[in-house]
Amino acid sequence: MSHTLMNPSFEGRLEAAGLSGLRRDRLETAQINLGRYCNQACLHCHVEAGPLRTERMEPRTAERILELLAQSPAIRAVDLTGGAPELHEVFRPLVLGARSLGLEVIDRCNLTCLFVAGQEDLADFLRDHQVRVVASLPCYTQANVDRQRGTGVFDQSLRGLFMLNALGYGQEGSGLELDLVFNPLGPSLPPPQAALEAEYKRRLKDDFGIEFNRLLTVTNMPIKRFSEQLRRVGREETYWTLLEDAFNPEAVPHLMCQNLVSIGYDGRIYDCDFNQMLDLPAEGAPDVWSIRSFEDLAKARITTGRHCFGCTAGCGSSCGGSLL
Ligand code: SF4
Ligand code: SF4
Repeated sequence: MSHTLMNPSFEGRLEAAGLSGLRRDRLETAQINLGRYCNQACLHCHVEAGPLRTERMEPRTAERILELLAQSPAIRAVDLTGGAPELHEVFRPLVLGARSLGLEVIDRCNLTCLFVAGQEDLADFLRDHQVRVVASLPCYTQANVDRQRGTGVFDQSLRGLFMLNALGYGQEGSGLELDLVFNPLGPSLPPPQAALEAEYKRRLKDDFGIEFNRLLTVTNMPIKRFSEQLRRVGREETYWTLLEDAFNPEAVPHLMCQNLVSIGYDGRIYDCDFNQMLDLPAEGAPDVWSIRSFEDLAKARITTGRHCFGCTAGCGSSCGGSLL
């Protein structure tokens, strides 16, 4: 009998591995989701973001987050996500506010947003404020990228990478970090990160002259749009079984929820962006108006569920790539 059949829940698997009761350990990162609006509508998107979504963070919420960051000295980085975070009105005020507090700022960039009307100065803005860019590029070939992210996305992504390289991003010694994110095209686990990074570096340099710093491999989470897509082709349960059977207790001490807090566009607080999309709030901290500091959430218990198998399968997965 497989482990999954003996003990199917995530908490049960943690307990069997002597790791039950996941708690935040050190709080280092505030991941802020600015809203669901995006200029793309990718097949794997766990946010179900797209051009027709209207949810956006209001300026007063962003101001409150900056107040809390000023009261949270343990936090070292602000990770801006969406949707396409850059296309939200609070993006630049949050970057400026966080940088003035001396925090690292990460922009989860889809690259095509650099070419949206009105964003002509976006790349310069990112460089001027030393924002670390983490850009999605699920393959180094046009066919695979366009299949997952939409027709024409690969060409525009390359144009975006050329533009960022020309500004110094991804170039040794520039201090301007450019990381790429790989996620599998279908219901499978990502290959080992280091080998794939070497392959990406070789192909993007040889074929297009593009350079970057690190490749982050990420497991697709079977929630929202990706789970609907799997359901349509009858592969949802097979994928869940794959994730559950690949549970790796060694990934647990590295889970990103132990070091971050996730904030929704409406100011509600979660343990991670996946919990946010599943509407599973953080224990004891409903929103940014009910706490005095993000550090109120340090040591808090983390809300888990079946989706957590997406973070512990194989080498593990997080917004920072493979865990092992
Ligand atoms: S995966 Fe990223 S780029 Fe694609 S729709 Fe979702 S938020 Fe937009
Ligand atoms: S989905 Fe991943 S990051 Fe979120 S609570 Fe579960 S294990 Fe932690």
